[in-house]
Amino acid sequence: MECCALAREAEEPPGSPAVPAEEPQDGQPAGTPPAGQERDRSRRGAGPQDPPGRAARGRGRRAPSRRGGEEGGRAARRPRVTVDSSKAKTSLEALKISLRQLRWREFPFGRRLPCDIYWHGISFHDNDIFSGQVNKFPGMTEMVRKITLSRAVRTMQDLFPLEYNFYPRSWILPEEFSLFVAEVRMMKGSDPSWKPTFIVKPDGGCQGDGIYLIKDPGDIRLTGSIQSRPAVVQEYICKPLLVDKLKFDIRLYVLLKSLEPLEIYIAKDGLSRFCTEPYQEPTLKNLHQVFMHLTNYSLNIHSGNFIHSDNVNTGSKRTFSSILCRLSSRGADVKKLWSDIISLVIKTIIALTPELKVYYQSDIPAGKPGPTCFQILGFDILLMKNLKPMLLEVNANPSMRIEHEQELSPGVFENVPSPVDEEVKVAVIRDTLRLMDPQKKKRKDTQCQSSDPVSEAKEEVWGAGPASSPGQDTAPEAALPSLCLKQVFPKYAKQFSSLRLLDRVAALFIRFLGVKGTTKLGPTGFRTFIRNCKLSSSNFSMASVDILYIDITRRWNSVGIDHKESGMCLQAFVEAFFCLAQKKYKSLPLHEQVALLIYFCEYQLAALDEKRPVCGRGIVERRSAVVPCQADGLHLTPAAQTPLLSRTATASKFADDGSHRC
Ligand code: ADP
Repeated sequence: MECCALAREAEEPPGSPAVPAEEPQDGQPAGTPPAGQERDRSRRGAGPQDPPGRAARGRGRRAPSRRGGEEGGRAARRPRVTVDSSKAKTSLEALKISLRQLRWREFPFGRRLPCDIYWHGISFHDNDIFSGQVNKFPGMTEMVRKITLSRAVRTMQDLFPLEYNFYPRSWILPEEFSLFVAEVRMMKGSDPSWKPTFIVKPDGGCQGDGIYLIKDPGDIRLTGSIQSRPAVVQEYICKPLLVDKLKFDIRLYVLLKSLEPLEIYIAKDGLSRFCTEPYQEPTLKNLHQVFMHLTNYSLNIHSGNFIHSDNVNTGSKRTFSSILCRLSSRGADVKKLWSDIISLVIKTIIALTPELKVYYQSDIPAGKPGPTCFQILGFDILLMKNLKPMLLEVNANPSMRIEHEQELSPGVFENVPSPVDEEVKVAVIRDTLRLMDPQKKKRKDTQCQSSDPVSEAKEEVWGAGPASSPGQDTAPEAALPSLCLKQVFPKYAKQFSSLRLLDRVAALFIRFLGVKGTTKLGPTGFRTFIRNCKLSSSNFSMASVDILYIDITRRWNSVGIDHKESGMCLQAFVEAFFCLAQKKYKSLPLHEQVALLIYFCEYQLAALDEKRPVCGRGIVERRSAVVPCQADGLHLTPAAQTPLLSRTATASKFADDGSHRC
């Protein structure tokens, strides 16, 4: 069966749709194109989306390898990467085009055997996937909800206020309503010329759903059906950058390739979504004009002024690169703008990773074979008049639709291709797949072992992974455009390593979680943390430890969304950790207090691990014992980039200093 499949595969003409040849799918005879593919084939065929040079190769024949027939034959037998697209939902169309360009094998109805890659449209389902790679991280959807994201960024703002000033001041409703009122009153008192506007966004909402603007905290609708939902209220950015007198925002695609080690890529191009009414600063009269203030495509499409773009430089949805060109021609420093955007993206992901790691170890605990995860995120960014980028939100499931609805006659709609969406989104999906190519990874691993300088040089040229061999049919790198995704982390890791304190706090938290599969720390785990890190003292008894645990845990559980598990969540642990740090290292800035306490705890735990070495394990493994080892894909090592020795040296200084006892 496998042989036949491979033989049939070798006969497939380049550019033919990726039809499952190996096994019938859901009663469909093998080789029958799944629904939609015929239409696809006739519509797109070997069209502009196909890699250059494909048509020239002719049908039904493979281009002979430059290295001769035997080698070419061997390359052709290499199995193609398999992709399960059965849960791709609205990203299916763009995924199909990408797979055709890559000549990978699509399984639109799933597959009995495991696939290399599972492409899910909504969120991580760990059901029955035990291997390969899934394009969603567990917990990502929860992490980027408006309230959770606000909380995560705010914690980072507490630690590094200047580094995290790219996110508007925000409050969480209803729990912080009084705080919101009090802070606004205070700020108005100290600056009477301040005439703010606020934007209220329901938690879990999307596409502008339920959003409204207010001038006064008293205008918040705390009662009523939709409006009484938990929400974030945020300072409204009144002076956005305008193009053609219109407000617009940017949707950038970011690939989180791996959580540990952290790897981030940014797509070189994104989309700009325009309002459809000329912008005016908010006044009581225009507050409700959504086509003026909200850039959501889903809202503005209903405006009579909406212009469908037939090229990428005009209309209500354009490429971001076209905006950059325009700004550059006006003399703007677009290099600085890009670098600010890259910083914003890296810092935001740094704010999200600690909790994502907790979700990860819970869903894919050490010992479970897999899968490993990657994810495309949609970053919504607003440019201020002075070109400062501000983060609006992060989407775990950004729309990958490449078609839009058009009203042909009143009430009659048809889906028509959207060239702007297609240009940007197909490239993002295709190049994400290229970066995740499991065969490339295997080749890279082999190369690492043999350390071949020629392949390393090729890799430099491509900037991401080794290039394919000439004549190889499964991944025709040479025939594809250069990657649209640019690595930004670890490339710029050095600049950001000092911000990754909470990853190390999360590593401590995970160590004491105990039973695999949980995300919350019980009272015993917390006590063990305190004891093992030698944080209790005559001033801070174990009874006080219990009170601290109960106080903080109760408060977080009353506001949290996850009531399934009892115990202390990571945010609560972080709050307790800050509290301990402030107690122990008084009168220093918070981030220094926290850094010192992390060093101290890591030092104590390393010393403890040294005392009880596990039989047969070497020093390297004991060093990384601060965090439990994880299954493939999340090799948790101490989160800090700082070498252990320098950290322990610093920590020992503080451990000796009696004045720092709790
Ligand atoms: P949704 O998920 O519902 O789209 P967003 O947070 O993206 O919610 O907000 C919707 C739109 O509102 C944005 O696209 C943007 O145009 C506008 N917006 C959101 N927050 C702000 C803000 N703080 N200042 C100015 N405009 C904002």
